[in-house]
Amino acid sequence: MNRRNLVAGNWKMHGTTAELAEVTAISIAAETAGADVALCLPATLIERAVRAAPGFAVGGQDVHQAEKGAHTGCISAAMLLDAGARLTIVGHSERREGQGESDADVRAKAETALAAGLDVILCIGESDSVREAGRAVSTVSAQLDASLPGSIPAAERFSVAYEPIWAIGTGKVPSVDEIAEMHAALRDRLRSAFGEAGNGVRILYGGSVKASNAAEIFAVADVDGALVGGASLKAADFLPIVEAASARAE
Ligand code: PEP
Repeated sequence: MNRRNLVAGNWKMHGTTAELAEVTAISIAAETAGADVALCLPATLIERAVRAAPGFAVGGQDVHQAEKGAHTGCISAAMLLDAGARLTIVGHSERREGQGESDADVRAKAETALAAGLDVILCIGESDSVREAGRAVSTVSAQLDASLPGSIPAAERFSVAYEPIWAIGTGKVPSVDEIAEMHAALRDRLRSAFGEAGNGVRILYGGSVKASNAAEIFAVADVDGALVGGASLKAADFLPIVEAASARAE
């Protein structure tokens, strides 16, 4: 099945008004890119980014599983949509570890977001100790099974991001063979869960993707784009990654 690559930036807790110019520059290049491009921004920037870059895919970095209620500091799917967001990340390892989010939480968030109309990028990945113990594929496969929504409305609205925790922000990247082994296992899990639609779900790689390693990573079977942290903050760093992803034949 043909899948169009997706390159999504995750700005984490970076970005104020001064950085909106980067969003605009990225959105202009995205119009003619051969890959889908999105930026998951701090909630405070979403509405202004949507105004500055109409038509561009702006997303959130997390969403609460409840529709509304007494959840201080959290953001609902309706709030993200109201601000103009089209997608959201769920289950990033920095939330799983920092905020104690369980697989069940992540699954609930994904289901809430999809039902509300947001596209979802669901993150999974192993720690360095799990990788060193030779349990990366079994652990991440189990994490995916437990985090997946019960159903997906359309394959192109749901993506999985394999992000080894030890590769995030460290400059370390798994070998292409390790990425290939993991993505093939995740594709199997997606097919088991969703049947034929599992072939259409994009599996992104994330963890220290840069202009210098993007082409090699995108050449791996079942890598359908990237979730990019640090290198998404500046158009000059991010756009060469988008360009590398655009080279894939559709
Ligand atoms: C991330 O946090 O999702 C990420 C991939 O970060 P980085 O690209 O900086 O490793």
